[in-house]
Amino acid sequence: MNKPVLPPRTDPNAPAMAAIAFGANLGNAQKTYKECIRRINALPETSVVRYSSLILTDPVGGPAGQPKYHNGAILVQTRLEPEELLNQTQKIELDLGRVRTIKNGPRTCDLDILLYDDVVMNSPRLIIPHPRMYERDFVLIPLREILS
Ligand code: ADP
Ligand code: MG
Repeated sequence: MNKPVLPPRTDPNAPAMAAIAFGANLGNAQKTYKECIRRINALPETSVVRYSSLILTDPVGGPAGQPKYHNGAILVQTRLEPEELLNQTQKIELDLGRVRTIKNGPRTCDLDILLYDDVVMNSPRLIIPHPRMYERDFVLIPLREILS
């Protein structure tokens, strides 16, 4: 299947488009997702255009026996630069109770930037397109829903 891409920007003055993945396997994921969408929409110069339904998926990696994940994807228009968007989504993760412990361990809220226009970047804090996204159905299924 083709790799998903964001629609090309036609107006150079238009805001950027970005796709953000949501994942949670602790707490009330449905409620956390709604709260993420509300908070992302409230960010400066940012609005949520579409969001996917949540799908239930098996955990990949991490400790054995962790709960299933709820995964979704959120399409936004924003004038925040990628690094600033990451600052803001990391703040939302923390506000919603994310504690970074074990790698791939259970979490209440994971927000990853999947795509940002046609940007390709690889900085110490931020890799876009998100690495590994193309191999992960739990990312691709919600992403295809918001891009369809
Ligand atoms: P996971 O890889 O499971 O999402 P974390 O959410 O703890 O793990 O993120 C680990 C680090 O990944 C973050 O500190 C962040 O700097 C980095 N990172 C690199 N690229 C991205 C991206 N596209 N979106 C979000 N985080 C990213
Ligand atoms: Mg993450």
